[in-house]
Amino acid sequence: MMEKLAILGLGLIGSSIAHAAKRGDQARQIVGYDISADVRDRARKVGFAHSIADDAAPCVANADLVILCTPVGAYKELAAQIAPHLKPGAILSDVGSVKGAVLRDVGPSVPKGISFIPAHPIAGTEYSGPEAGFASLFDGRWVIITPPDDADQAAVEKLKAFWQGLGASVDVMNARHHDLVLAMTSHLPHLIAYNIVGTARDLEDVRQGEVIKYSASGFRDFTRIAASDPTMWRDIFLNNREAVLEVLGRFNEDLAVLQRAVRNGDGQFLFEFFTRTRAIRRAIIEQGQDTAAPNFGRNRQP
Ligand code: NAP
Repeated sequence: MMEKLAILGLGLIGSSIAHAAKRGDQARQIVGYDISADVRDRARKVGFAHSIADDAAPCVANADLVILCTPVGAYKELAAQIAPHLKPGAILSDVGSVKGAVLRDVGPSVPKGISFIPAHPIAGTEYSGPEAGFASLFDGRWVIITPPDDADQAAVEKLKAFWQGLGASVDVMNARHHDLVLAMTSHLPHLIAYNIVGTARDLEDVRQGEVIKYSASGFRDFTRIAASDPTMWRDIFLNNREAVLEVLGRFNEDLAVLQRAVRNGDGQFLFEFFTRTRAIRRAIIEQGQDTAAPNFGRNRQP
């Protein structure tokens, strides 16, 4: 058990880390900080941390592990602000959904004697804020750690053990590979969802009421993803541009092939294609990454 854990940014992920760290007895003292006075007040009310600081410096002072849990766009300034106050020997980590940009933005501010080890929990919901967090968010989920080449191995092991203590499994990879994998599994699906919902909103021949009334035919599953936090997702696309454009190019090529099959009435091609994609869904269920219950286990009536 470490002495002090500091969490900067008390939204969904920051508050969930605090809940899970408490549940797993990971730290004797959990201290939080958020830039918003309103969020700090609400965090005090929810009570997931032992204390909430009104400034970043006292929050990180003497902490063994400091985790940045703000949108990625805030990292650079925040890292420069806390750097002089970090305890020698501390681990500085984060939860950002992109990793190359985090190395670029935070790396130069990290003082000697501090181990900077970025991480990304592959877990979340479409909700934000200090009330959105819960202790089981990371149970059975993956956390990807992307240590810089010269990282201290003992610190990497400590961070691994911390996340395992929160219920997660841990993988280690380099930041560039992380950004490509996540561009495919997370960033592109979000871009597609934002686009589909935007197209439906702008479609002139179909009334808005109809889009909502008949949404159970597929549309509503995209709306869950497209309800994700705009600040966070703006920052992700600004900071993983290269990898997103690479997978988007592949996606557009494959979509053109499907478009041609639909235009040509090529039923055999469509059937074989959909049969192959169905196998991916089965693999996700087999590996415990989603429920096998019909319709994601939803009741028929909301
Ligand atoms: P969130 O619920 O919106 O919380 C972020 C909090 O950080 C907000 O309260 C925000 O305050 C605060 N903040 C902004 N700038 C700050 C600063 N300079 N210093 C201190 N606090 C600051 O967001 P989240 O969903 O927890 O996401 C946080 C991070 O986790 C992001 O980097 C994201 O990429 C990563 N992540 C998210 C998910 C997910 O599904 N949500 C999954 C994995 C990783 P204001 O609202 O006042 O700006």
